[in-house]
Amino acid sequence: MPKFYLTTAIDYSNGDPHLGHALEKVGADAIARYRRLRGDQVRFLMGMDEHSQAVVQAAEQNGFTPQAWVDRMATRFEEFWRRLECSNEDWIRTTEPRHREAVTELLRLIGRRNPDDLYAGEYEGLYCVGCEEFKQPAQIANGRCIEHPTLELVPTRERNHFFRLSRYRDPILERIRSGEFRVEPAIRRNEIVRLLEDGLQDISVSRHRLAWGIPFPGDPEQTVYVWFDALINYLSATGFPAPGYQRLWPADLHVVGKGITRFHCVIWPAMLLAAGLDLPRGVWAHGYVQWEGTKMSKTAGTAVTLGDAIERHGPDALRYFLLREVGFEADGNFSWERFDERYTADLADGLGNLISRSLAMIDKYREGVVPEAGPTASLDQAGVAATEAYARAMDAVDLRGGAEAAWGLVATANLYIQQTAPWKLAKEGRQEELDVALAALARALYRLAVLAVPFVPGKAQVLWAALGLPGEAAAAEWASLPAPPVPGLRTSRPEVLFPKPTNV
Ligand SMILES: [Zn+2]
Repeated sequence: MPKFYLTTAIDYSNGDPHLGHALEKVGADAIARYRRLRGDQVRFLMGMDEHSQAVVQAAEQNGFTPQAWVDRMATRFEEFWRRLECSNEDWIRTTEPRHREAVTELLRLIGRRNPDDLYAGEYEGLYCVGCEEFKQPAQIANGRCIEHPTLELVPTRERNHFFRLSRYRDPILERIRSGEFRVEPAIRRNEIVRLLEDGLQDISVSRHRLAWGIPFPGDPEQTVYVWFDALINYLSATGFPAPGYQRLWPADLHVVGKGITRFHCVIWPAMLLAAGLDLPRGVWAHGYVQWEGTKMSKTAGTAVTLGDAIERHGPDALRYFLLREVGFEADGNFSWERFDERYTADLADGLGNLISRSLAMIDKYREGVVPEAGPTASLDQAGVAATEAYARAMDAVDLRGGAEAAWGLVATANLYIQQTAPWKLAKEGRQEELDVALAALARALYRLAVLAVPFVPGKAQVLWAALGLPGEAAAAEWASLPAPPVPGLRTSRPEVLFPKPTNV
């Protein structure tokens, strides 16, 4: 069983999770669930970035100590991710001892391999508290950070430790160009290649006398810079530096937002190269959820809370909408109107209606037992083709394409019901043709229960159980999809999976 070590960005603990966080987490979760369906030994990591200056400020403003504050925020984030059915095996917090140990060891390793890779110097620049980063002129517009146009940049001058990032430009470029280190989608890879071609400056990797953080090894007056600290979480969670961490490392995929590719595709690989460790195999940088054309984040201000969005039509519907409509590549828009439309068309009238009609007919005409017949030229061929298109899309992290392939089969199956009109076959006593139609519909539902797992895991399981299948849809054999073993299954009629909204 090949291993698949997958991570999301860890989130700052300075405010509640919003739809932007949710897109990244459910997207990564869909990838994790798909890889498990394909038989990979998945390790899916999520977590919290707890050492930022913004955390200290948020804690103070709310009357908490930093530790009490991050404990509270970690619980809040975890609750939301459980509600959204995230299936991560591990949850890391950068205040944990395992992380502190890994950070300290990685810095020691860098210092030992190339003693002049870390050196002391003076830094002067404009600091963005939103990004926790000194901004370069290209990242500033109208005197403000491009990512945080509502925040003032802070002029800062202090003694720091520097990392010789400039030394690693060529080896990183080489690995990106050869495909050994994949940066996707292509638009993000091109940005990173341009950035590398323009040349790299060394970066400050410590802050002076910042009490909330990890002490810089050998210099207690300095604290490890929060980004340098945060990136290492992917390694800490493997058990590094303890022997055996290579069972997970290198990571197979880091899922991050497009705004932090410089950290993940330039600084992080440089840190690993400097320490003599393997680079991750790939980075996927998704776009942003936009609300009326503006990035959805706390600092940009927003009109919709994640809690409201989950309650609107339930967690599965939100997962589906984010991945199908907003998308996991470019920026996409969220609006209540569009959410309601998609919910009604794709889930209530689409998948939900298909399930309830098919199971009702198997119940009515065959006392709930799936007959043995088929396969059919029309619906089964469409099922095989949809499964193949789905796998091609999902392998390429085209989550929207995966959803389109699965819901394409929903539409075909609903059309099949209209065209074969099983109620007519029953009325006219055409029993063999009725068996063929009902068995074909049961096979379509089996396929959909599996293909829907990454998108609507809760409802996929309800469908699986209603088909009379044992265990979990998520544990289904992928190899069973070309010829789903449905004859003889004792089905039941579940409650309405996606109720029609009454007052939205
Ligand atoms: Zn910023």
